[in-house]
Amino acid sequence: MPKIFERLDGKKAKDLKVLADFISIFCRENHRAEVKDTFPIKDIRLRHCLGDKDLVLCRDCGKLLSHGIAKLLICPYDPKPMCKKCETHCYAPGYREKIRKIMRFSGLYLIKHGRLDLMVHYLF
Ligand SMILES: [Zn+2]
Repeated sequence: MPKIFERLDGKKAKDLKVLADFISIFCRENHRAEVKDTFPIKDIRLRHCLGDKDLVLCRDCGKLLSHGIAKLLICPYDPKPMCKKCETHCYAPGYREKIRKIMRFSGLYLIKHGRLDLMVHYLF
């Protein structure tokens, strides 16, 4: 089992769930025509904190989610700050812009659909 999962705590688990939910909404609403696959979640703890369900994403969104999960787990700060307030830009070039776009889109989507309860906080 990969070592980085040892770093999973309550706060990170919550952030991972937000990350996965937001990417799922974006992909569902914007990439309807793309070929989709079940996002592979091998670690049982990770699976649990993502809601114990399969995530179906296009290849690009799947890559972005893997990147986001890895970055979140290896975050050197304790407690982890909100990503959008963090001075360390740990995402690889291209990914940061993408994730910000996704956070904006899905955040607005949840507001429009009255799901303020899900808007605990923005990561980006
Ligand atoms: Zn997608």
